[in-house]
Amino acid sequence: MYCPSCGVKNEDDKGECFVCGKRLPSSLLVDIPGSPQSNRPKSGKARAATSSDSNAARLGDRLIALILDTMFISAIVLVVAAAVLSRWPTVLDSHSNLTLVAVSAGIVLVIAFIYHWLQEGAFGATMGKAIIGVHVTRQGGLKPGLGPSAIRNAFRLLDALPFYVIGFFVALFSRGRRRLGDYAAGTFVLERAAVPVGERIAVIFLWLAGITAAVWGAWLLRPTWFQFPPK
Ligand SMILES: [Zn+2]
Repeated sequence: MYCPSCGVKNEDDKGECFVCGKRLPSSLLVDIPGSPQSNRPKSGKARAATSSDSNAARLGDRLIALILDTMFISAIVLVVAAAVLSRWPTVLDSHSNLTLVAVSAGIVLVIAFIYHWLQEGAFGATMGKAIIGVHVTRQGGLKPGLGPSAIRNAFRLLDALPFYVIGFFVALFSRGRRRLGDYAAGTFVLERAAVPVGERIAVIFLWLAGITAAVWGAWLLRPTWFQFPPK
């Protein structure tokens, strides 16, 4: 049923809307046995479901958004690695493998965090989420903001272990399909009812242009990486 307060679809009737926490009409209509004063609403304040109604985003949609974002992040990591190796060509020889793996993993995590944190905090969606048509909100449909977005994406470290198994199963069995980071930050991932076509095309263009620019930059910096067979 659709919540009359915030318009989000609640798949189960647990009495309260999982996003705004307001009581759902069906629970208001339940007469308490033996009480002459039922808690039936006095007036028809509940507004009808409108076209802005939205659902909790499907996990499949979120997975596709994650793949699109990971492609973009990979392109950034590629150009950063090319830039580092151009600036310090001997860095691979002068450190142990363990150090190199640890530092590389740290750089990748920082890039992935900043990517998700800034975009979800400022716009409510990463490029991948915007292309698929889902967004991150706080209670009342607000944009998450940088603080909650930082918490949500710091918990990604936990949710993403291993291969998002934790986040997936927590979301699968939670009301409103929330992963640990959503609970910690008080956020929800909802479907957007209608995404303007122009906006979606603009984001796809930005996503493609960013990946192209990053790969081109890496090719300019380290042309040998793109030779086949590799040298
Ligand atoms: Zn609600």
